Amino acid sequence: MWINVSQLFKEAVGSTREYEVNETVDVGDSSYEVQGDVRLLRTGRGILVKGILYTGVEVTCSRCLSLFNCPLTLSIEEEYLPTIDIEGGTPLPLPKESGYFTIDEQYVLDLTEAIHQYVMMAIPMKPLCHEDCAGMCPTCGHNLNQGPCDCLPQGLDPRWADLSGLTVTNDMK
Ligand SMILES: [Zn+2]
Ligand SMILES: [Zn+2]
Repeated sequence: MWINVSQLFKEAVGSTREYEVNETVDVGDSSYEVQGDVRLLRTGRGILVKGILYTGVEVTCSRCLSLFNCPLTLSIEEEYLPTIDIEGGTPLPLPKESGYFTIDEQYVLDLTEAIHQYVMMAIPMKPLCHEDCAGMCPTCGHNLNQGPCDCLPQGLDPRWADLSGLTVTNDMK
């Protein structure tokens, strides 16, 4: 995802550009359909990119193990610094601190790596296909979202299975 910022760089600090994002971003063997808006702000030393992007990734539900598309909202805010001087074309020293991206010699700003990092951070540790996912039967592995299986409820001793009906009767008193 490239944006040429050479024009913006020649403008005064504080100048902005808005971009509508609607494209496929390929990173390694993954690709994301990304939509949203970004705003580029010319700062004293570079470009500040801010925006909200929407995408989705295919993940495995942590309860029922089915694959589903997990929607992600990426709230991007990253600083991009030039590597060469726009006027003279001489290399620019980069700050020692980390936490910024660089703009290449053609003054093209590449959002791909940032989007990839934000996607990685946004994927939940334990994704759920939906909030009340019924999960999997621990005995037969049946996906309980597709209906019950024939196994006994978990933790119930089979010898007591016949008596389980009594509990219901007592509750109804
Ligand atoms: Zn699930
Ligand atoms: Zn089962």
